[in-house]
Amino acid sequence: MRLILLGAPGAGKGTVAKMLTAVDGSVQISTGDILRAAVKDGTELGRQAKAFMDAGDLVPDALIMGIMKERLKEDDCRAGFLLDGFPRTIPQAEQLKDLLKDLGIKLDAAVNLDVPRDVILDRLTTRRTCVDCGAIYNVKSAPPKVEGICDKCGGKVVQRDDETEEAISKRLDVYNEKTAPLVDFYKKEGLLLDVTATSSEAVVAAIRKRTGA
Ligand code: AMP
Repeated sequence: MRLILLGAPGAGKGTVAKMLTAVDGSVQISTGDILRAAVKDGTELGRQAKAFMDAGDLVPDALIMGIMKERLKEDDCRAGFLLDGFPRTIPQAEQLKDLLKDLGIKLDAAVNLDVPRDVILDRLTTRRTCVDCGAIYNVKSAPPKVEGICDKCGGKVVQRDDETEEAISKRLDVYNEKTAPLVDFYKKEGLLLDVTATSSEAVVAAIRKRTGA
């Protein structure tokens, strides 16, 4: 599958992407994960991205396109890819279109996960993430077995710096202003698949039906 996953922060893009990787070996590419790893490793990219991320702002398009131009050329993308959190602006979508054309790659769909704002706010304020492997937990519905410790790798499970109420509210505003217009962009491209289901299983089923995977 070659998909773009659109949707506000907390709409479930990461969860759906992880489930889809098991279907046909497509690789999940999350620009948020790549940036968080760069911040953790203290690289130049991380240094440039951190202040934007902590404030709930978008990282500049040029930095993101630099990452994605290299990432999409890697071998593991041949089996397919699930773009999670990219593109996030119209210029990114336009540059991705050119990049894919150059690489001779056709997208199957751009999936828009449409989830009500109150559901999203509740999910994000209760979400916790492993700093080492990125596993996602929820303090209400899916806590780690031992508080603060990742079941999978033993890493520390924390609330992300950008998941305080203030940063979340900012991220949702940024989403509405900068990323929501991509829904129309991909509609015009004839690639849009709108999914309103709230369960990840139902979303995966709708995507498989569309792509035949
Ligand atoms: P995410 O985990 O996808 O919500 O991303 C976390 C943060 O990383 C975002 O709030 C942005 O600051 C930054 N980020 C991730 N992907 C992008 C992107 N495609 N364009 C700009 N900033 C991004």
